[in-house]
Amino acid sequence: MFGNIFSSMMSDSVKQEVPEQWIKCPKCSALMYYKEVEAKQNVCPKCNHHFRISAEKRIDSIVDEGSFVEHDQSLAPVDPLKFSDKKPYKKRLEEAKAKTGKTSSVMSGSCTIGANPIEIVVFDFSFMGGSLGSVEGEKIVRAIGRAIEKECGFIIVSASGGARMQESTYSLLQMSKTSAALNRLHQKGLPFISILTDPTMGGVSASFAMLGDIIMAEPGALIGFAGQRVIKQTVGVDLPEGFQRSEFLLEHGLIDMIVDRADMHDTLSGLFKLFKKEKTMMPEKEVIEEDITQEEGTEEEMLEVVSEDTPKEDSEV
Ligand SMILES: [Zn+2]
Repeated sequence: MFGNIFSSMMSDSVKQEVPEQWIKCPKCSALMYYKEVEAKQNVCPKCNHHFRISAEKRIDSIVDEGSFVEHDQSLAPVDPLKFSDKKPYKKRLEEAKAKTGKTSSVMSGSCTIGANPIEIVVFDFSFMGGSLGSVEGEKIVRAIGRAIEKECGFIIVSASGGARMQESTYSLLQMSKTSAALNRLHQKGLPFISILTDPTMGGVSASFAMLGDIIMAEPGALIGFAGQRVIKQTVGVDLPEGFQRSEFLLEHGLIDMIVDRADMHDTLSGLFKLFKKEKTMMPEKEVIEEDITQEEGTEEEMLEVVSEDTPKEDSEV
């Protein structure tokens, strides 16, 4: 019976009339009614395969209900290079906007998770493969700025093919721009959790995605820099089983944990509570170092400062 339904789904005319009523799991090939999958946050109930989801669905699954307030949604890319490959970049942007209703591959905003205030940036793979361009970089940096201002935690959920080639160097610059902003966050002692979802590749994995104080991934996500075919051609050997998947990366120490989508909210909530506790028990050392740079004292004066008990109220951390 299912065979018939599936073959009829394959014909375009039927597909348009009945859009995605039945979903075939790419991992276990089970055919399921879409509501069954949706009810499980777009995770296959048979084999736990995590389907790709939109930024909106991702936000719904992570943040406290009704707490998300979007920022910078009016930022839209320009085409400074007047770039054209098979199509002009401008046309690609128009098509992506028509398809997704967005002008960027990220959504950014303020929210709470387990009542902890958080700034969050979420990639949407359906907008130009979640590619990182000037607008995405700017949105990330602005979100980090808000986290610093509010002294709260920061999250990026990545789903990206990498840098946006149509913006060339402008796109590559976003790697250093976002990394530098994350360093400012780090200097303030504020936590950054990076969540890697399927896929996290190229310039995204080579910059902020791998700079998390905690790096977590969804099960089975493809995570890497270059694609497997390119690596295989370059090194000339067969790649090991499961190469560039979350489980392989966890085993080899590149990420800290794999978290099921259903557990993501509670895991994040628990971690931010822990960070909050850590913050109140923050060792004096970091606080003192900051005071020293501000005071620009002599070495002797600095030593005096170190030996003193710096009151907590003075802390900017
Ligand atoms: Zn499955």
